[in-house]
Amino acid sequence: MDLYEYQARDLFAAHGVPVLAGAVVDVAEDAFGVAEGLGGRVVVKAQVKTGGRGKAGGVRLAGGPGEAVEVARAILGLEIRGHVTRRVLVAEASEIAEEYYFSFLVDRANRTFLAMASAEGGVEIEQLAVERPEALVRVAVDPLVGVDLGTAREIVAEAGFPEAVRERAAEVVVALWETFVAEDAMLVEVNPLVRDPHDGIVALDGKVTLDDNAAFRHPGHAELVDAEAEDPLEAKAKAKDLNYVKLDGQVGIIGNGAGLVMSTLDVVAYAGQRHGGVAPANFLDIGGGASAEVMAAGLDVILGDPDVNSVFVNVFGGITACDAVATGIVEALGMLGAEASKPLVVRLDGNNVEQGRRILEQAAHPLVTLVDTMDAAADKAAELAAAGA
Ligand code: GDP
Ligand code: MN
Repeated sequence: MDLYEYQARDLFAAHGVPVLAGAVVDVAEDAFGVAEGLGGRVVVKAQVKTGGRGKAGGVRLAGGPGEAVEVARAILGLEIRGHVTRRVLVAEASEIAEEYYFSFLVDRANRTFLAMASAEGGVEIEQLAVERPEALVRVAVDPLVGVDLGTAREIVAEAGFPEAVRERAAEVVVALWETFVAEDAMLVEVNPLVRDPHDGIVALDGKVTLDDNAAFRHPGHAELVDAEAEDPLEAKAKAKDLNYVKLDGQVGIIGNGAGLVMSTLDVVAYAGQRHGGVAPANFLDIGGGASAEVMAAGLDVILGDPDVNSVFVNVFGGITACDAVATGIVEALGMLGAEASKPLVVRLDGNNVEQGRRILEQAAHPLVTLVDTMDAAADKAAELAAAGA
């Protein structure tokens, strides 16, 4: 889950990363009181989950409360890279002497964590990485050792932070590391990390991605979810504990095991090219123990997707054998009743496949077509999706 800047800022503050005082408002007039409380001069910042707000006119300074309202009015509703601004952060305006860049992230390729730092922050980091790669240092972080003050000093020195602020910057880096670890983040990025005229260091912007797999360890993270901005189908799936991702196509997909579902997406995308360009509508892995309840929950979510014209159920029987899955499908269709209204193509293989197929044949549900191979089933599902369009 990506956080808004103001949410990242709250986490930073909780872990001792210096940030500027401020508050979030969704009505322009409310900026008046906030600006007044902050002493007048403020920065008003669009809260959208994308970068480049500054360039898009989403970050503006205001000289006093009245101007803060005007600026907030101009920014609220502003569309930035496809994201509509519904809230603005009104924060104490900072005086900037220099802008740096700092981040901690998961380095998948090297199976470790990575610190990235640059004394040339403020600009888009992707651009800096391409144009002046030597200005961006990357330091691997051993997850078992972590980042103490000594390591942090090395990183900021290597990045070329000026001597005068290295010690303070190193302390902030340690606090950022504590945020990264304590919150189970996958990314903590500060751009710009600012040097003020008194050599203080402040995180002026914040981007945090939390690891959803660790959500169970953080009951407090649930309230960071922006229900309004969430895809309603993904929200419904999450409420049912399903591993679901909405995609753009028309063929609903259910499978057991992430690998099988991934290859099912490929096969359906390929088959879809022969049928007018239909494509997978979602990723849904119902896991190993595919009970009738889980199958029903999965079908319920997929059939609730107005883009779906057909559903491909692709199951490899393992610990939960094919007969149990087949019974699950039949019971799920019974539970859904009239809500199950789109054709289902089912391919079963693996443990007890014969018994599984027999159960589906005997049930003879009018919506279900049984196909033996994955390729043929994908083709059939794509054909039905194209016909239903
Ligand atoms: P982004 O464009 O989405 O990354 O938004 P940022 O929060 O990073 O703001 C963009 C730029 O606006 C920063 O790099 C700063 O140069 C400038 N900026 C942001 N806040 C302030 C502030 O309080 N005072 C001043 N003078 N400039 C600011
Ligand atoms: Mn920024």
